Amino acid sequence: MDTKTWVLSRHEYWWKFLLKHMPFALLDDTAPVCEFVVKNSKSAGTASRRDCRYNLAYAVTGGRTEYDWTICHEICHTFAARAMHTSATHGELWAFLYNKVCGASRGRFHSYNRAAAAQAARPLRKILKLQEKIRKLTEE
Ligand SMILES: [Zn+2]
Repeated sequence: MDTKTWVLSRHEYWWKFLLKHMPFALLDDTAPVCEFVVKNSKSAGTASRRDCRYNLAYAVTGGRTEYDWTICHEICHTFAARAMHTSATHGELWAFLYNKVCGASRGRFHSYNRAAAAQAARPLRKILKLQEKIRKLTEE
């Protein structure tokens, strides 16, 4: 399975997992939008009430076991922010969801090889731009 398809499937898995365990918590339980970015940044992912953004530079170089916890981390952000009607923070509910409900038990940060992600970021960005160009050309 290619990386984007895998990330999307885990994004959906963790969202359904939280809904199953906390079915009363949300007024709006529509899944967050799954978006992809490629950034030479220390951030492997970000989240808001609306979406989760996954940095493919880490998804590709970090290994799926590790990156799965990043997906879970971001999903917990969206879920907690919606439940509490706040922005995405590492607050009490986020920590409970991530560490207790999902079983991460690892604090909030990921351990990635930042240099490997940085090296991957530039060629990945080029690939995505090329794919976008090809998509536009074939749509015309
Ligand atoms: Zn976070």
